[in-house]
Amino acid sequence: MKNLVLYIIALMMAPAMQQCTYSQSTQPKKEVMDTEKNKKHPAYSRTDTSKVNLSEEEWKKILPPEVYYIARQKGTERPGSSPFEYSKEVGTYYCAACGNALFKSDTKFESGCGWPSFYEPISKSSIIYAPDHSHGMTRTEVMCGRCKSHLGHVFEDGPPPTGLRYCINGVVLDFEKAQEAEKKYKEKQ
Ligand SMILES: [Zn+2]
Repeated sequence: MKNLVLYIIALMMAPAMQQCTYSQSTQPKKEVMDTEKNKKHPAYSRTDTSKVNLSEEEWKKILPPEVYYIARQKGTERPGSSPFEYSKEVGTYYCAACGNALFKSDTKFESGCGWPSFYEPISKSSIIYAPDHSHGMTRTEVMCGRCKSHLGHVFEDGPPPTGLRYCINGVVLDFEKAQEAEKKYKEKQ
């Protein structure tokens, strides 16, 4: 019975969650929509799009060490170490530090570079960009649009339609499988 209620709630919320991605307005139901299992710390939310501004000390307290190292210290995970690299699961990838929706699985591709790769973010505001001249290279760093955590880099050798390759550390991604209903809807298209 409990499962049925949860299923109905999830079905009702699916359209609202999609709208959230494209809207900056505060959703009144955000507290209801965030399930307990997703709530890692008070600033973490899959639905609240307001910016997260925490000190590095606060981040260090609330993030697991491996996430903190990449997200806040601009680290890089070992190539080939992320289970997301070859994952073909249908769903959404979120920022592991703050819960911001970043990429849809249908924009993911196998680049062979050693890290999960995408050709397009879920929305323009989901990612922010900065020039990165570290390690003797000129690259474009990509950060979470909500909490400014380091995610990886974007390169201009990706596939169509964008020609971009977002090379992302899997450690800073949370994945959530699409609802069965959403999968079926996509198959019909
Ligand atoms: Zn974030």
